[in-house]
Amino acid sequence: MRFNILDAVSDLKVKKSMADKLSINEMAKQLVSIGFECVRCGECCRARSGDNTVILFPDEIQLIVDTQGMTPDEVCEPSIPQFIDDSGTLHCFEWVLKRRNSGDCIFIDADNTCMLYQQRPWICSTYPFFLAFTNGAIKPDIMVSECKGAGRPMDEEYAIKLAELLRDRLLAEITEEIGLLENLEGFEDWELIRDYSRQGYSIAVHDSRGITYITG
Ligand code: SF4
Repeated sequence: MRFNILDAVSDLKVKKSMADKLSINEMAKQLVSIGFECVRCGECCRARSGDNTVILFPDEIQLIVDTQGMTPDEVCEPSIPQFIDDSGTLHCFEWVLKRRNSGDCIFIDADNTCMLYQQRPWICSTYPFFLAFTNGAIKPDIMVSECKGAGRPMDEEYAIKLAELLRDRLLAEITEEIGLLENLEGFEDWELIRDYSRQGYSIAVHDSRGITYITG
């Protein structure tokens, strides 16, 4: 069955209105019962514990560029392309935070302090939690990623702040996805990439602001 953009946008709009109605108090209660306290192990920022990909939205990239005096190229790179078109251009739909050669985030320092703390992306400020519509559920569930700090006591004030961040992150994710889909043109003619080398191809990165072409 072919992917229908109009249907996907309409589905996302329903999810957005559900996310808007989430009860912060109810979510905060759940967060307290799960528990979390950051133990500053740095594992979520480093490559040694597995996937530490941080997806960035255009607004987040701009905030880092503006506050850190960096260029967009220094902050992020395209995620792995998923489609190719007739001209050989690869297409991807996300930006990811740059990592060092070691695979660790460029903003983690030797004592596990995040040098970006005040401007850190949604994924980082809400870690290890995220909201997801699982198995076609109407309401999103609170999910927990692997984390040494999970299960530790959490006070109510922090839980409320975290619940608000989680709701706002979900709204930002849905808004970005709607904007991206509404900007997507020519998608019907692309093919899924099964086996390719990025060498020599240009990459089109699609987001809610439009398309950025990067030549390999
Ligand atoms: S931005 Fe900060 S919190 Fe996020 S992965 Fe990098 S060092 Fe960790």
